[in-house]
Amino acid sequence: MAEHGGGLRPDTEDPSAFEQSARRFLSATARPRTDSAREWGQGRDSVSYFASGTAEQERDAVLAAKKWQRTRYENGWGWITGPSEFGGLDLPVNYQMIYNSVEADFDVPDTNQLSVVGLGMIGPTILEHGNDELRASLLPAMYSGDKIACQLFSEPGAGSDLASVETRAVQQGDEWILNGQKVWTSAAQHSAIGEILCRTDPELPKHRGMTAFIIDMTAPGVEVRPLRQMTGGEEFNEVFLTDVRVPDGNRLGEVNGGWSVALTTLTKERDVVAGSDTEDIDRALTPKHLSALMRATWTWDDRALRRDLSQLIAEAMAVDGLNEMAAQAMETGQAAGPERSIAKLMHGRNLTRSAHFASDVLGPRIIADNGDWGTYSWSEFLLASPALRILGGTEEIMKNILAEQVLGLPKDPGIDSKSPFRPQRHATTGGEAR
Ligand SMILES: Cc1cc2nc3c(=O)[nH]c(=O)nc-3n(C[C@H](O)[C@H](O)[C@H](O)COP(=O)(O)OP(=O)(O)OC[C@H]3O[C@@H](n4cnc5c(N)ncnc54)[C@H](O)[C@@H]3O)c2cc1C
Repeated sequence: MAEHGGGLRPDTEDPSAFEQSARRFLSATARPRTDSAREWGQGRDSVSYFASGTAEQERDAVLAAKKWQRTRYENGWGWITGPSEFGGLDLPVNYQMIYNSVEADFDVPDTNQLSVVGLGMIGPTILEHGNDELRASLLPAMYSGDKIACQLFSEPGAGSDLASVETRAVQQGDEWILNGQKVWTSAAQHSAIGEILCRTDPELPKHRGMTAFIIDMTAPGVEVRPLRQMTGGEEFNEVFLTDVRVPDGNRLGEVNGGWSVALTTLTKERDVVAGSDTEDIDRALTPKHLSALMRATWTWDDRALRRDLSQLIAEAMAVDGLNEMAAQAMETGQAAGPERSIAKLMHGRNLTRSAHFASDVLGPRIIADNGDWGTYSWSEFLLASPALRILGGTEEIMKNILAEQVLGLPKDPGIDSKSPFRPQRHATTGGEAR
């Protein structure tokens, strides 16, 4: 797949040739980011975690993201670590990191709506658990930006305890009929497909009676209802499923084997949540930006704030170090170990701490827009901060995972993995499981 001579496709000869070819591709397709945009008072000042524009602005942003992903894919940059039969480059993760760092020098559309859940979590799950037809029909469409995918796991009664899902899937010939409700579904309004976890046998213990599928989000019976956040945006949705028909070919893994499929997705989720941020979020942990904030607000001499800042910077560096260790492990073919879980836990905490630090520095300026660059822009981030400790597994759950899987402490006594799901549900809700 190596390419020489100045084309736009990746030169995979070695990391340095790859980096040069990435720069060639980006120089030909995007504008360089100007240095002034990174100086205090210049360029964008957004420190925003969630999409917070109008529905129309969001749609435009998604269209721009899809277009940019298509440009990447058509030139060979769409799935650097993926298999070549689906348009990937079959390269180790450090090549992806090289590309990311080169791309950071260019002004390109934010592709997070596609890449965090769809390409980062669901694509790899389809690759591992989907049948040949499903992989061939979906993966190129996803990595070329054509189809966005969402994750339909959480339900009103199944979040941290995901094995409690109650959305039912009942087999009828070559099809499955789905009924139930999902919640918190990020980007469902932009998605063509979704990975869903359903209960297929309530008589089995809860971890063993679930099956995963890919559903068509435009199929009859799928209803997406937006949920408004306190940031003002509508990034999440409730999704209601009424007699939704799904072909058996869209099943991921074995019947009643959905838990191991979900674990693949959740492991990938930890990787993307710990390892990737948008430019806006990077700004929230950039020492230069935070110290400029202190200087601009005449708080530089405040010793308590300076101590908070140094702690924040030290812990952000620790997360970078953990991510680096995980990347090195993956590069040598090993699975990323506890580094990712610890990084996820610390990163969520650092982002929250950063939002509170900015709030301490700015005081009332964070709640009233007086037009000053880099001040009120922090308000959205502060309002988003509680979510950062929940998404991708809450802090408490991450601590449980570390306690059990790294420190070898006894398992959470709340989890019953032996009794059939139906009587367990009956005992807790006092009602019939569906
Ligand atoms: C920004 C964001 C995006 C999301 N996107 C998606 C998505 O696209 N698709 C999707 O399916 N879901 C999504 N979620 C849902 C997310 O996965 C769940 O919110 C999360 O798993 C927590 O579940 P819950 O909200 O039901 O809280 P609960 O499980 O009800 O937890 C409530 C509290 O109890 C604590 N707790 C629960 N069990 C234990 C325990 N055993 N030990 C100690 N403490 C415990 C929790 O840590 C938490 O503090 C998203 C959430 C957020 C915030």
